[in-house]
Amino acid sequence: MHPAIPADAKIKKHIAVIGAGPAGCNFALQAAARGHKVDLYEKSGSIGGKMNPGSTPKGKFDFNNYRMYVEATVIKAAEEGMIDIFLNTECDLDTLKKKSYDTIVTAIGTKAAELNVPGYENMKTAQATELLENPELLGEAKKVVIIGGGVVGCETAYWLSFEKNMDVTVLEMLPYLMDGACTANRGHLIYYMKKNGVKLINMAMVKGFENSKVKISRNTHKNVPNPYNTWQPILPKNIENPLAPKVKDEYQEEFLDADLVVFAMGGKPDDSLYYALQEAHAAHEIYNIGDSFTAGRVLEANRAAYNLAVKL
Ligand SMILES: Cc1cc2nc3c(=O)[nH]c(=O)nc-3n(C[C@H](O)[C@H](O)[C@H](O)COP(=O)(O)OP(=O)(O)OC[C@H]3O[C@@H](n4cnc5c(N)ncnc54)[C@H](O)[C@@H]3O)c2cc1C
Repeated sequence: MHPAIPADAKIKKHIAVIGAGPAGCNFALQAAARGHKVDLYEKSGSIGGKMNPGSTPKGKFDFNNYRMYVEATVIKAAEEGMIDIFLNTECDLDTLKKKSYDTIVTAIGTKAAELNVPGYENMKTAQATELLENPELLGEAKKVVIIGGGVVGCETAYWLSFEKNMDVTVLEMLPYLMDGACTANRGHLIYYMKKNGVKLINMAMVKGFENSKVKISRNTHKNVPNPYNTWQPILPKNIENPLAPKVKDEYQEEFLDADLVVFAMGGKPDDSLYYALQEAHAAHEIYNIGDSFTAGRVLEANRAAYNLAVKL
């Protein structure tokens, strides 16, 4: 357990925090509360990181409330002179090294996965995160194919279908959509996607793009799980269900019409800046927290931020 109001730091340090997502913001606030001098850098023009695209669907109002709370708290801290914020400032090794910070904390999130299959260059594509923040990227599109049926892909599908009236298909290569998500949230989203005619296709892989169509290889075996089934719990991978019907590989080629293809295939922790700083000995102490250490949720990002801030 950590105290709600952390004790003053014994040695006050000059700290650079890179990235104003929840990890960077919460670390900056706690470190400043302990008396450190904190500079918070953000490459975009806004505070919140991935909470910004995550707050776009109207159903995410509670998430948006938290995003607004973090933003307001950080702005207030800056106005009161507790921290300095530098928006529209992308940090790299050279700029950070020149500033001679005692401590540098990277919290720069993930790098989105891309799909480089044949025909990619002729297809209109967008990352789910950029589309959620910039709906104008939809242009004239009516038919959208989302690649990746995790939580981000399904929330994007729900948003496009309910709020943008799009014809949406979600493709997932695994047997289950949103595998690992909270059962109640998963059931709720699948129910509403089904209700609004979102097409869910599981056990399907994208092979390429041809003439505004997505070429997929889809398992059509009779035992492929029904992607709309929400009542059956998904068992952990280390528990084998001896009664589960075996799914054989019966892959067939299919083509799906698409005006726009949206990538929602997750991302890898972006630890490139952290390792570059380490290698160059850019400061006495260098740490990496949040999604740029391991991709997770806001809870994990905040925990990492708080745990580090009370120790420095
Ligand atoms: C669509 C979507 C929905 C989500 N929904 C939920 C949800 O409902 N609940 C939940 O708990 N989690 C959700 N998440 C996950 C959650 O948003 C992330 O886990 C969390 O934001 C990670 O926080 P972070 O601070 O580590 O990284 P990020 O939020 O990614 O912030 C990193 C920041 O660093 C900045 N940056 C990057 N490089 C540099 C640089 N060189 N210099 C300066 N700044 C830089 C970026 O612009 C960004 O603002 C969602 C994510 C997405 C994409």
